[in-house]
Amino acid sequence: MAEYPKTGETTVAMSDPTAIRVTAPKCVRCGTSVVARFRPFCSQRCSDIDLGQWASGSYRIATQQEASGHDDETAS
Ligand SMILES: [Zn+2]
Repeated sequence: MAEYPKTGETTVAMSDPTAIRVTAPKCVRCGTSVVARFRPFCSQRCSDIDLGQWASGSYRIATQQEASGHDDETAS
């Protein structure tokens, strides 16, 4: 009978409270997961809304493009 060496001292030091801090970026408007290209917003819409809030006193940006997915443009 072979006797296996007992290694009872397995120090697993991987429980660092500050090491793993997964904070998924959320849209500052609605809280939805942020899309990289629209950061820090989730979409162009939220970006426009937020932008329109602080810029409403200065100037208005008329963004009426693809408001409801209406993509029917007639080539002239
Ligand atoms: Zn949003």
